[in-house]
Amino acid sequence: MFLVKGKDLWEVECKMHFSWCLRKMLKLRHVLQVLVPSRVSTVRRIWDEIREPRSKVRWHRLVWFGFNVPRHSVVLWMSILNRLPTFDRLQGKGMILENHCILCEAGAESRNHLFADCLFSRHIWNSILGMCGLTRRMLDWEGELNWLCTCLKGKSLIVFILRLAWCSYVYFIWEERNLRRYRGHSRDCNSVLACVKEVVNTRVQKKSIRLDTVNSNLYAVWGIS
Ligand SMILES: [Zn+2]
Repeated sequence: MFLVKGKDLWEVECKMHFSWCLRKMLKLRHVLQVLVPSRVSTVRRIWDEIREPRSKVRWHRLVWFGFNVPRHSVVLWMSILNRLPTFDRLQGKGMILENHCILCEAGAESRNHLFADCLFSRHIWNSILGMCGLTRRMLDWEGELNWLCTCLKGKSLIVFILRLAWCSYVYFIWEERNLRRYRGHSRDCNSVLACVKEVVNTRVQKKSIRLDTVNSNLYAVWGIS
């Protein structure tokens, strides 16, 4: 049973002194009644009734996971869908004429360049891979995303760190690009890497981690106390 002001949602009278939001909600009860004729339901059941079912995308766990930073997840989500306003997209719409990467000055800005081909960004992500004890080098955008989707399975600390780091890496590269383009301010690779490290540190500290040899090494390399 849903209670509003201590009374059954379906019985409570809509009064003028209720907040605008509550009055609006009470006026929409008839919509809910159509969806929930029995009046006995759960949020999950209502959600299942109104949503449009679609199959899960393979990258959903890269974007949405426990202890994520929501604004970082949103930027990663937009980048995977290639919806960030990168200059190649603006150029395609005739909104700009010139397109060069503000991070390396050596290529045209696109999602794939910014997050995978750009030397500035590659240096940061390769450093992160090294801090996780991995000797592999970054692939192109599709290849790296594919590797992450395939390999980041389970609940180990290294998987958690790589998920967090990838999400933060994309966010801080996008932030750096915006700082340079619109604020005339720039940071070097180490400063951006430090931002990723700080996010990893604060999020890992919220979790309860079993400190075996592998995890202790990760703690030491990432400077987690
Ligand atoms: Zn570049």
